[in-house]
Amino acid sequence: MNIPDKLTLRETAHGHGANGMAFYGYEDTAGLGIQMEARRESGRSGFIETWFHEALPERKFATWAELSAAVAALTDEQVEAEAAQYPRFRSIRPDTCGNACRLCPRPSYTGERVKHDTWRVHVARGWRAVTDWRCSLCDTHLNQFDGKPAELIAALEAEAAERRASTAEKGLPW
Ligand SMILES: [Zn+2]
Repeated sequence: MNIPDKLTLRETAHGHGANGMAFYGYEDTAGLGIQMEARRESGRSGFIETWFHEALPERKFATWAELSAAVAALTDEQVEAEAAQYPRFRSIRPDTCGNACRLCPRPSYTGERVKHDTWRVHVARGWRAVTDWRCSLCDTHLNQFDGKPAELIAALEAEAAERRASTAEKGLPW
């Protein structure tokens, strides 16, 4: 698989913890399947990069050059065979936190903590679990998307876009 010399990455995740621990997740914007994580274990240590590729399961590389060499050795068939396995459901378990179903109309906010009888669903986009789509679904919605992970992702993306639009509308200053 040929990859270009120039790479544009976008941030897909970030988080931080005790003592200055922090991480940032990135993927390439051209859909080449390249991912990178920059992580530091404390505020006193520097960020360390780790590179991954969607078609190289369970492998990681310390530098872009190392990843690039491994990816160059892949055939297009190998890349396609790996991609064909996704998206798929990684896990479906009762949601012990009782979050509301992501695709049902939002219950109006009462200030009370209501526990919902839902399922915690992880949909794998690739071999790295950190890139999974995660959501809570009711029985009805779980059944609706049974065996259709790609349709579920599309529905979640549509819901997220709608929510962003409605927030933007409410946020108008006039
Ligand atoms: Zn629902």
